[in-house]
Amino acid sequence: MEMSDLIIRGAAILPMDGTGRVIDRGEITIRNGRIVKVEPLRAVASNHHAPAGGGDEFKPEVIEASGHLVIPGLINAHTHAAMTLFRGYADDLPLKTWLEERIWPIEARFEAEDVYFGTMLAIAEMIRGGVTAFADMYFFMEQAAQAVVESGIRASLSRGLIGILPGAEKALRESRELVDRWRGAGGGRVDVMLGPHAPYTCPPDFLRKVGEEARRIGCGIHIHLSETRFEVEESFRIHGCSPVQVVRAAGLLDAHGGPEPMTAETAAHDGEGARPFPFLAAHCVHVSGEDCSILGRSGAAVAHNPGSNLKLGSGIAPVPMLLREGVTVALGTDGAASNNNLDLLEEARLAALLPKGIAEDPTLVPAYQALEMATGAGARALGWEGRVGRIEPGYRADLVLFDLEQSHLTPVHDLVAHLVYAARAGDVRTVIIDGKVVMRDREILTFDETEVRREAALRARRLAGT
Ligand SMILES: [Zn+2]
Repeated sequence: MEMSDLIIRGAAILPMDGTGRVIDRGEITIRNGRIVKVEPLRAVASNHHAPAGGGDEFKPEVIEASGHLVIPGLINAHTHAAMTLFRGYADDLPLKTWLEERIWPIEARFEAEDVYFGTMLAIAEMIRGGVTAFADMYFFMEQAAQAVVESGIRASLSRGLIGILPGAEKALRESRELVDRWRGAGGGRVDVMLGPHAPYTCPPDFLRKVGEEARRIGCGIHIHLSETRFEVEESFRIHGCSPVQVVRAAGLLDAHGGPEPMTAETAAHDGEGARPFPFLAAHCVHVSGEDCSILGRSGAAVAHNPGSNLKLGSGIAPVPMLLREGVTVALGTDGAASNNNLDLLEEARLAALLPKGIAEDPTLVPAYQALEMATGAGARALGWEGRVGRIEPGYRADLVLFDLEQSHLTPVHDLVAHLVYAARAGDVRTVIIDGKVVMRDREILTFDETEVRREAALRARRLAGT
């Protein structure tokens, strides 16, 4: 039975629709996976079983949700899902040592099925933490796509491309196959972007080729950019300019604006449709004012990964400056090997706290803005504006129900502050994606989580050789 007709009744609702409003006790009506009505409970008449458009019989499942808070699903805008298998495998090391001596050797032993189970494990953790969509960059992406389809989550998948390796052309071909076979799968839950790993692993010629390909097949670009000080210094040494300027020179920033490079006028950030396909840059820790301005003018989005950047000692991204320049700033966890969890609420808290501490200014990045980064900005960053990221009629029903009846969430003065400063992933009780209940009362319904955990642990031990 298709369970995409639902009514969620009695919960507080944070629509995140730009108005800042909170509905204290409301009702959300979902039909065929789409939100059709959002209203305060007192305004709801007794005829709420009447069809909301269309003549078909409407027999929704009703979820009684008093004592809960409903928000749009959180969007993890940058991760490497299958790296859950390396959680706690290599810590407290410099990025170069961590990557070259620990992560790359163990990744070389990866088999396709490892990616499937590592991704399923990541999905279980993300659903438990209220994440309903993620942007993934890894390899064996057919297995990742399979995991997304089976689990019911939403994702934008990128096959990581290392331009300096001999297999780069083959990897680009695999990206095209991923687009052909998987874009739109799972009832539209699977999206695909091209994933040139970074300017330091992809020479300018290769980046240019990826940009041309993205424009030809009409898809977005997901890349690592300016993560470390060393990367930026090397870029100046080799190319005479910053990594942001390298990707601009390679045409990646205007790859989606048509044949003419975008100008400040054509790239109005608040206008819709200026950039049909996203340019998503992870990190942007070491960016200058000019870099931020270039990113802002081109309509680029940045996935801010404060937890991973702190743990790897990379630094802290200048979020207030990026925001001032009009860059869409979304949030990511990065892989579980450098975080070490996939808890996006934790990232929202860090995104709100770090700028305050650095500038000694508690007014920077208020709670609502941090939550917007984790929801609406995530949707824009992945090119899904108007589809997800809000609780509003016409949007797909990706919703998270938080259990408010807990000591650490009592009393309730401000629900937004609660989410960002007090709530935990464990407070998520029920998760709905594309109108389907994928977790109910903390039980994942779409797959056998215990079996995934068991298999993932076995595979992680084999990979680590223990
Ligand atoms: Zn990453």
